[in-house]
Amino acid sequence: MNADHDIAVVGGGIMGCATALRLAEGGMRAIVVEQGDLGQGASGVNAGTLSLQIKRVKLIPYALRGHALWAQAGAAVGFRRSGGYTLAFTPREAELLHERMALKRAAGAPIEFVSPNEVAMREPGLSRRIVAASWCPDDGYANSSLTGRFYRARLRAAGIGWRERAGVTRIDRDGGAFVVAAGGETIRAKRLLLACGAWLGEAARMIGVELPVQARVNTVSVTERGPPLVGAVIGHATGLLTLKQKPNGTVLIGGGWQGKGAPGEGRGRVALDTLVPNLRLASYAVPGLAPLRVVRSWTGFEAAVPDHYPLAGAAPGVEGAFILGCVRGGYTIGPYIGRLMGELILGREPELPLFDPGRAFAAWN
Ligand SMILES: Cc1cc2nc3c(=O)[nH]c(=O)nc-3n(C[C@H](O)[C@H](O)[C@H](O)COP(=O)(O)OP(=O)(O)OC[C@H]3O[C@@H](n4cnc5c(N)ncnc54)[C@H](O)[C@@H]3O)c2cc1C
Repeated sequence: MNADHDIAVVGGGIMGCATALRLAEGGMRAIVVEQGDLGQGASGVNAGTLSLQIKRVKLIPYALRGHALWAQAGAAVGFRRSGGYTLAFTPREAELLHERMALKRAAGAPIEFVSPNEVAMREPGLSRRIVAASWCPDDGYANSSLTGRFYRARLRAAGIGWRERAGVTRIDRDGGAFVVAAGGETIRAKRLLLACGAWLGEAARMIGVELPVQARVNTVSVTERGPPLVGAVIGHATGLLTLKQKPNGTVLIGGGWQGKGAPGEGRGRVALDTLVPNLRLASYAVPGLAPLRVVRSWTGFEAAVPDHYPLAGAAPGVEGAFILGCVRGGYTIGPYIGRLMGELILGREPELPLFDPGRAFAAWN
């Protein structure tokens, strides 16, 4: 087969870069092709929360290992192990919290329940209306705006080539090789990995694969610098809040509230009708936030499939092609699931099972 590369990785987010790094360790010549800048997609605009408490039960083993990889990266990604509380303000939320956290604890997350009095002592800046809370000492956060710089340095150190501002517009086959048209260049590779985040459905169609991928438009906001209010990462029993105060005093607020727009239409837009309840919930949890001004709110596109588990495995019906993406909390598990994907492509048995992109999905409801 006439090919310049062992594999072309389309998408320079965490998933694509982490896989390319594992492939290089295994001796494969990879090239990463990115339509913008490395790490400019969801991987570079997310809230950076590394919380085991907001992961789905089945993904806890992946999140634990992903967390450990971010911890290893340390200051280069602004990693901080702050611990995290998830709060309930009503008896119904307390019930939900107990149900969900007990399952995550059974799956290996070191989560414990703490009394409202204990929380008040440890985090006096939190609301006094808490009726139940859980604590995970492993929770923390990193700075997602460092993703591009981090992976660019790692790709360079591993001798992996990449192209930026090179959107892939067409993928053909020639004598078994994949012929990838990107930014006026043609790249020939023996294998193909599509790691295109919220653009994955469109990319998969280029190789004749239909995936039920939709884009979520998540919102994040940051406040001006304030006095010390809270040390841990804060979540809410419903999963609709993530909040952390950075060492410089700014507070980052997220929780998956939906903005507007679509990946094909440029950048998404913040929607006031979801932004306001997000900020209201944040200042309910941390009353000292109320006087702080929000200096910026933004959105990013995150891929989703109906069962909310990743797509990670061989592309159905296309020899030599692979698919990786789609998961809530993908910043946390990204570096690890990329490694697993690399194992699979290298022909090795991954340490934990992957998630067949060809599995049956229920319809979107
Ligand atoms: C606003 C927001 C907040 C989030 N908060 C958190 C959080 O706090 N904690 C957490 O764990 N997770 C969080 N997530 C989820 C997490 O960011 C994502 O799951 C993860 O970054 C996905 O990584 P990826 O590499 O699959 O996608 P991306 O980072 O989006 O990378 C895909 C890349 O593919 C490129 N691409 C697409 N099509 C093409 C093409 N045709 N040619 C070339 N390149 C192409 C894109 O430009 C993009 O750079 C959040 C997501 C968002 C959007």
